[in-house]
Amino acid sequence: MTARIIDGNALSARVRGEIAVRAAALTARGVQPCLAVMLVGADPASAVYVRNKVTACEKAGIRSLRFDYPQDADPAEVMSRLAALNADPAVHGILVQLPLPPQFDEAAVLEAIDIRKDVDGFHAENVGRLSQNRESFIPCTPHGVMKMLETVDVKVAGTEAVVIGRSNIVGKPMAMLLTNAGATVTVCHSRTRDLAFHTRRADILVTAIGKPRFVTGDMIKPGAVVIDVGINRLKDGPDAGKLCGDVDFESAKEVAGVITPVPGGVGPMTITMLLENTVISAERAASARDLAAGK
Ligand code: NDP
Repeated sequence: MTARIIDGNALSARVRGEIAVRAAALTARGVQPCLAVMLVGADPASAVYVRNKVTACEKAGIRSLRFDYPQDADPAEVMSRLAALNADPAVHGILVQLPLPPQFDEAAVLEAIDIRKDVDGFHAENVGRLSQNRESFIPCTPHGVMKMLETVDVKVAGTEAVVIGRSNIVGKPMAMLLTNAGATVTVCHSRTRDLAFHTRRADILVTAIGKPRFVTGDMIKPGAVVIDVGINRLKDGPDAGKLCGDVDFESAKEVAGVITPVPGGVGPMTITMLLENTVISAERAASARDLAAGK
């Protein structure tokens, strides 16, 4: 059996098309969606992510503002910029690219963002709302995974789901979303004993580990849905320099029923969901404005 492959690029292009239509409608109402992106330091990967986000905004008709700070930036200066962006009604989303340099208290920075503009969904209040299954901004990568499952018609309720990884940005919110959708969820991590025992029970397996080709075909239940969040660059061997996921795609695709590739799987969906969150925020701002004006 060879798994059905979810094309994240194609899905992303379709969803971004819908987002562009919503952005244009907002602009016609006089509220162009706007995302402010802050980059602190010179981490090359972060610079690439920020550039990709800004380009994606432009293509979708979303205005973007970019604020760059050096590695030795004064946290007070960044906090003061955040306060100004919170107060600016023309800004609908604020994103601080992580990681931040060591002089920053990352949690304090994330919590300085107005929760109505927290389009990354990392503010503790949005995380709490997600855990209570209330309306919130959902972190973009796990949100993108849920969108993928929905569009390929995977019924989540009643399944056994296993998430490998317990980070705040992927693993934990992923587990909460799957729980909210009715799956029975197991969260695995580096302290898990007998990882394969868990993965072999999974109808839905999500990997967010950061270890190249770590999950092999023999660890997967036949017919399972395998979602590979990992993005790793191979250091040696014949594929040195290439990107790969946490899953050994070649052996896994012979066992799984549905699988995502890397690159071209979850990656493009992450930025797509950031655009969607920004448009949602702008739609809320436009409705609030109209309500205040008695329209
Ligand atoms: P973190 O390093 O924060 O978390 C990795 C998780 O994997 C941890 O919970 C860790 O366990 C667990 N882990 C590590 N080794 C093992 C092991 N041997 N067995 C079981 N679990 C293990 O990474 P992120 O969550 O930030 O990212 C994970 C991956 O996803 C990375 O490759 C990253 O590049 C990618 N990523 C992709 C995105 C996309 O858009 N597609 C967006 C964000 C991330 P413990 O907690 O015990 O240390």
